[in-house]
Amino acid sequence: MQQRDLAGYRVVAVHAHPDDEAISTGGALADLAARGADVLVVTCTLGEEGEVIGEKYAHLVADAADQLGGFRIGELSRACGVLGVRQRFLGDVGRYRDSGMAGAESSRNPRAFVNSGDAAVGDLAAIFAEERPHLVLTYGPDGGYGHPDHIRAHEITHAAAQCTGAVRRILWAVRLREELEANLPVEIPEGWTRPAPGELDAVDRSDTWVELDDRAYTAKVEAMRAHATQVWIGDGYASETNPHSARARGPVTAYALSNLVTQAVLRREHYQFGAGVGIERGVNAPAGLLSGIEK
Ligand SMILES: [Zn+2]
Repeated sequence: MQQRDLAGYRVVAVHAHPDDEAISTGGALADLAARGADVLVVTCTLGEEGEVIGEKYAHLVADAADQLGGFRIGELSRACGVLGVRQRFLGDVGRYRDSGMAGAESSRNPRAFVNSGDAAVGDLAAIFAEERPHLVLTYGPDGGYGHPDHIRAHEITHAAAQCTGAVRRILWAVRLREELEANLPVEIPEGWTRPAPGELDAVDRSDTWVELDDRAYTAKVEAMRAHATQVWIGDGYASETNPHSARARGPVTAYALSNLVTQAVLRREHYQFGAGVGIERGVNAPAGLLSGIEK
């Protein structure tokens, strides 16, 4: 039985779209929750502008039925169940719309998250004031990979933390380039491609990391799998959403997003220091991401 040594700690993860909680921070969230921390995922948009993997739900996309956002609520809910965390949307459900990729027409929608101004900061500040989190996880200033909604999530997280004073530490989720490259599969499924050098978002240094035990790793993979319109896990699994199985051969579980570029679910999740109570760099302390913060 896992030790509940983190009971009494509160953690909030601020994410741009459904699936980001699993892909960027799923291992850490599962580990924190299993060890007793109270974990809340705040999702800023419904991910309406996403593409769809698999034919069955392909017409839900924004320029057809425009029903993808509602559908993704179900995927997100299952993913958060697997991770053992609570979830809520920023503002109300559907309050802010996915802005799409940089420069897209969708970013001019007044409801697009990039145009959320002080309202989004106020909405997140209200959540921080209520939760008083010891730890907040989000992305760095570049949003991890430059998506405007990820950059916006970073901005409102720091702004809301500053105006409430209710957050003890902010960390930014990153991946280490050398680990990513070393763990890409030796054989990729048909139809998938290998990433070009520098194509995948990754950094050369982090400040701390979480070593995922089998339980946290499995929870992360299953949470990613729950987002079946967005994530294709390369372990031979087929689903109602995506009936095509794909099997990669390599050191860890592989996956692809709708662009079918091969990626790897790494055994370590890395974080850079963002703000608040400092962390001892390069040390994997027993309290992990919460080390040095009193309950
Ligand atoms: Zn995203």
